[in-house]
Formats: sequence, C-alpha cells, structure tokens
Amino acid sequence: MSLLSVTVRRKAFGDTLVLEDVEFDIEPGSFTALVGPSGAGKSTLLNIVSALDGHFEGRLDWSPQARRRIGYMFQEPRLMPWLNACENIELVLAGRAGASDIALSMLERVGLAGREGSLPRELSGGMQRRIALARAMAIEPDLLLLDEPFSSLDEPTAQGLRRLSLHLCREQGNAVLLVTHNLSEALSVADRVLFLSRGPARVVHRECLSHDDSAGARLRDPDPALRDLLARHPDILSGVVTQEETS
Ligand code: ADP
Repeated sequence: MSLLSVTVRRKAFGDTLVLEDVEFDIEPGSFTALVGPSGAGKSTLLNIVSALDGHFEGRLDWSPQARRRIGYMFQEPRLMPWLNACENIELVLAGRAGASDIALSMLERVGLAGREGSLPRELSGGMQRRIALARAMAIEPDLLLLDEPFSSLDEPTAQGLRRLSLHLCREQGNAVLLVTHNLSEALSVADRVLFLSRGPARVVHRECLSHDDSAGARLRDPDPALRDLLARHPDILSGVVTQEETS
C-alpha cells in the first residue's frame, strides 16, 4: 500500500487556478522528483502535501501505518541565527528525551561533528544546508519534502548534499518528494520524475527510472536518462533547465 495518495482536484489563489487534477502516490522509501517550469505550482503542491495549506479541493490519504511525520527542507536553510548548530536541531525535538544526544548524532552523520557550538553565521552555506538536512531528518520522517534545497549552491557542494541526502534517506528508509526545476538533478537522484505543465498545472508525464545501485548512494549520471527521455519527449524541456545555473 502507498504511504500517501495525493489528489488535488483544484487549487486556486483567488481567480487564478494553479493546480487541476494532480494525482500521484508516494510509495514507502521511494524518491519522487517533481519538475516543472517556474511558477507552475510545485511549491504550492508541497505546501498541500505538508498540510501547511489546507485550502484545496481534493484529499491526502495516508497509509494507516504511517506516523505522518514530515521533514521539510527549503531553498534557504532557515536556521535560527541566535542558536548554535546543536540547538537548531534540538528545536524540532522539543520535549523529546535525549534531544541533545540525537542532535549531536545527527550532526555527526552530516559530517559536522565538533561544530555543534557554531552559530549559523560561522558556517558556510553548504554546512548550513547540512544542518537543515540534519534537522529535517532528526524527527525520523516518513516523508522528506525538499523544496529546491540544492539550488543557489555551487555544483560540487550541491552534489555533495545530494549524495548525503540520498545516503541518510536510504539509511532511515523514508520516502522523499523533491521539487526542482533542474531536470538533470531530478534524473540523477529520483526513482520517478513527475512533470508538471504550466498553470493550471497537471502531471503531463511520469518517468520511472531503474536503480542498479541498490546498496550504496544511488546518485547516477543523468545524461543517458536525459538523452533517452528527450528522444521520446522532445518538448518536455519547455521551461525546465537541464543544468543548475550557479552563481
Ligand atoms: P513554483 O514552485 O512551481 O515556482 P508556486 O507554487 O510558487 O510555483 O506558484 C504557483 C503560482 O501560484 C504562481 O503563479 C504564484 O504566483 C501563485 N501563488 C503562489 N502562492 C501564492 C499566494 N500565497 N497567493 C497568491 N498567489 C500565489
């Protein structure tokens, strides 16, 4: 049974219809990427899935076994500037026994052992993203939502974070829903890519990808999958980039 079935019949802001008849399932432990042009409604869909936005026609059907825990990582790390690395993670574990030990162990898992006392401004952008990832994973989510978390990073840093995210999610066994406008990124990490059209957005194509690397991190070279996809759907790139443009 699916972890979550998402059905959005209609989502509008005022008179503007943003999403119409968007339906997909998320399997436990799966990695789904949601790709579409800027302004298509990808973040709106994530807000619906996370229940931050309940104003839509449709439904979210969770598996009865799901604890419905959702981790969320955004484009910006959104750390509290006055709290150190450890305290930023402890914040989401409020009241849990051993919160401090969990936070320290998460920092170690993202390669930041020894930096628990550092304030966000003392850490690089990549390190801040790693804390944001550790914070999202510390609650042991059923589903991790990633809203363009690797854009605005240089490519080697983005690649390191993709690898780390895949590794942690594989270890913890949670499902992932990644929003990106970067098709190469989607094809390199996901088991399945859903393509949204321009508004009102619908899922216009579902691309399933096989994994030959079941044991380790499953980051793959996106080029063969991209060539294969473009041969079958030459127009799919409208509004979507194939390489992240970094500053
Ligand atoms: P994407 O994430 O694909 O770039 P968004 O989900 O952010 O797209 O936005 C989809 C559309 O909905 C855009 O036209 C945007 O202007 C509009 N929109 C998003 N949030 C709001 C809001 N709170 N109020 C009004 N319009 C919104």
